[in-house]
Amino acid sequence: MNTVTRPRILVVGAGFAGVDCVRRLERKLAPDEADVTLVTPFAYQLYLPLLPQVASGVLTPQSIALSLRRSRKYRTRIIPGGAIGVDLKAKVCVIRTITDKIVNERYDYIVLAPGSVTRTFDIPGLTEHAFGMKTLAEAAYIRDHVISQLDLADASDNPAERAARLQFVVVGGGYAGTETAACLQRLTHAAVQRYPRLDPGLIKWHLIDIAPKLMPELGDKLGRSAQEILRRRGIEVSLGVSIAKAGPEEVTFTDGRVVPTHTLIWTAGVVASPLIATLGAETVKGRLAVTAEMCLPGHDGVFALGDSAAVPDLAKGQEGAVCPPTAQHAMRQGRKVADNVIATLRGEQMQPYVHKDLGLVVDLGGKDAVSKPLGIELRGLPAQAVARGYHWSALRTNVAKTRVMTNWLLNAVAGDDFVRTGFQARKPARLKDFEFTDSYLTPDEVRARVEGAGIDHP
Ligand SMILES: Cc1cc2nc3c(=O)[nH]c(=O)nc-3n(C[C@H](O)[C@H](O)[C@H](O)COP(=O)(O)OP(=O)(O)OC[C@H]3O[C@@H](n4cnc5c(N)ncnc54)[C@H](O)[C@@H]3O)c2cc1C
Repeated sequence: MNTVTRPRILVVGAGFAGVDCVRRLERKLAPDEADVTLVTPFAYQLYLPLLPQVASGVLTPQSIALSLRRSRKYRTRIIPGGAIGVDLKAKVCVIRTITDKIVNERYDYIVLAPGSVTRTFDIPGLTEHAFGMKTLAEAAYIRDHVISQLDLADASDNPAERAARLQFVVVGGGYAGTETAACLQRLTHAAVQRYPRLDPGLIKWHLIDIAPKLMPELGDKLGRSAQEILRRRGIEVSLGVSIAKAGPEEVTFTDGRVVPTHTLIWTAGVVASPLIATLGAETVKGRLAVTAEMCLPGHDGVFALGDSAAVPDLAKGQEGAVCPPTAQHAMRQGRKVADNVIATLRGEQMQPYVHKDLGLVVDLGGKDAVSKPLGIELRGLPAQAVARGYHWSALRTNVAKTRVMTNWLLNAVAGDDFVRTGFQARKPARLKDFEFTDSYLTPDEVRARVEGAGIDHP
């Protein structure tokens, strides 16, 4: 069959949702049934739940960056770049390649899986001074930054500077923020042994959240256990508190406290990728409103899933419930969307997405963890075994599994060397630079660009 006549399936985003979708399409579709193209800025799938372990140096960045090309059935065309707009009428996706070239990619079916970005608020100084924990570059940057604070405090004779460099603030008491604070506190606690001039008592971690509880999904008892572990480790947890103002050398909390610090890590939730807004379609709290089959109503061949879509949570059985933005849903939605794309291609019936949440695992570093698999509450080593076992088995390739296991063993036996690499040390680290949130077009700009390229709107 001629290439031109084959239906074109375009998948946007190589995360949990996009990669599971592509792998399923490669496995189930005959090569002459359709062409599959994947748009992704990076050549890997990032295993985000283990990001705090990269920041704390337990894992190397490479071990959680899974190759997109390591698959026996691999045949997808990969466009290295990011989608910056979609024209649903003309069926064109506008892409900015990694060399900043803008290209129009036509499709017959589009699967939108660009995930989410860090949610920010209109707080003075926040976007200029906070780091996020959403990308591999951010995790590696934060690790270097935290170690550099110890180096600079050690070299300084100014007590005020020392105190400021040794205070760290994490905002967000969800699993991402809690794990980040816990893992990085372990890093500084262990690293300070190598700095005999520094008083370990000066190191102070703050974890704050505007909500009244940490990780409410865990339930009251397990949430309190997590909080107790953090307090025991010297992390000051403040609930019902947020940030009023952020500066380069201090952060002001909403309860009036002013904390001298050079480190503000912002993990207060996520919001759908800005790509979704370029569609001009209906959204639910920023996520694209889709059916249980993950289709966009009124637009044939448009599918969306993962963190960027509000997929009805049929397993909950509540009117209006949508699936939470988690990897366990994104992966399974990826496979179901692939089945639905194939069903559409073959003129068969699509199936709705239904998955009952399996629970939550929270790795607080070392032997500390809390987990709630299938509703069973676990603490300490059993919880840690479940957390690590779950993540390990969810890594897609055997090579990644081996890398992660080797890293865990090496770290348990030999510890960390606390090496500061110096990469990007002189570059300001703003959220938008890591997450490229200012790259997107408005719906009007998308239309103008598509029309300017001579592509008709039907
Ligand atoms: C620190 C942390 C810990 C977490 N821990 C857990 C956990 O323990 N359990 C759990 O279930 N979930 C966890 N999550 C949430 C989970 O990682 C997300 O819900 C999941 O990654 C969503 O999958 P996704 O495919 O929708 O998005 P992602 O996995 O984020 O993938 C989106 C992909 O799209 C790419 N992309 C973005 N914009 C564009 C664009 N414009 N064009 C092309 N490509 C684009 C991105 O580079 C990325 O590769 C955690 C998240 C974080 C940040």
